[in-house]
Amino acid sequence: VKGKAKKAAKLAKDIKQAAVLGAGIMGGGIAYQSASKGTPIVMKDITQAALDLGLNEAAKLLSAQVERGRSTPDKMAKVLNNITPALDYAPIKDVNVVVEAVVENPKVKAMVLAEVENMVADDAIIASNTSTISIDLLAKSLKNPARFCGMHFFNPVHKMPLVEVIRGKDTSEETVASVVAYASKMGKTPIVVNDCPGFFVNRVLFPYFAGFNGLLAEGGDFAAIDKVMEKQFGWPMGPAYLLDVVGLDTGHHAQAVMAEGFPDRMGKSGKDAIDVMYEAGRLGQKNSKGFYQYS
Ligand code: NAD
Repeated sequence: VKGKAKKAAKLAKDIKQAAVLGAGIMGGGIAYQSASKGTPIVMKDITQAALDLGLNEAAKLLSAQVERGRSTPDKMAKVLNNITPALDYAPIKDVNVVVEAVVENPKVKAMVLAEVENMVADDAIIASNTSTISIDLLAKSLKNPARFCGMHFFNPVHKMPLVEVIRGKDTSEETVASVVAYASKMGKTPIVVNDCPGFFVNRVLFPYFAGFNGLLAEGGDFAAIDKVMEKQFGWPMGPAYLLDVVGLDTGHHAQAVMAEGFPDRMGKSGKDAIDVMYEAGRLGQKNSKGFYQYS
């Protein structure tokens, strides 16, 4: 395995400059992480308001580091300087890798990927942070699918160690090796997985949520389940709180993708707690009401 890893590492391109498309929850987090680990990054969005949100988020995270004594105002300024906000593609023409993190809509992503391929060098790598869309499907919008793969971060990006690097059927080994190297440089732990619904993490997570839904259908109490999983079993949080963090809208959508991808294992019969919460507009921490109340 060591020999294989060495061979793969040799294929990796040196990522000196990066870009992220989308300055939302994930794009802002990716920009912060890349910049703080020394890879300058252009953060592109379609509105100044979105860029300001992404930059403010990065600034907040950096201030917290300074307050805790883990960084200095000087270092903070340097990291912020490593993030270049952009409303057009001009500043990304020389980057080595682009991470697409725009809204989870296949049509918008297809348009953005096709646009960006025309703006970067022929050997630049393009990756998508999609959670649920097939990498092979997105690859169809590119002229050169060999340079494309998934690069799936988890929320919040600065805290979650794992990055799934998703290999599509046409993804080159050089692309995989380069994205693995970039994720490692960002201080993350990359794992390489093949393209399939849910990639790796959601294939493990959604059967767990199905178990949780089943307990609730039998009259279980969500707070009691959380307490057992967190306090007694020792996980960082229980399923209800985790769904509140992820967002019930995101969870609802991902659950539908898993049910369609694996009908025999994750197919649904009737409404479950995730459906009920989503339909009631209880989206979790993002709108201050999910399983728990946040205001
Ligand atoms: P978000 O809604 O917070 O941000 C999306 C951003 O994309 C917005 O700022 C929007 O203005 C921008 N955008 C839309 N069209 C654009 C375009 N043409 N060019 C540039 N920017 C554009 O969304 P998010 O939660 O950050 O999710 C982004 C991606 O990351 C999605 O594919 C999502 O599935 C994935 N993801 C999300 C999470 C999560 O927990 N939020 C976790 C892992 C992966």
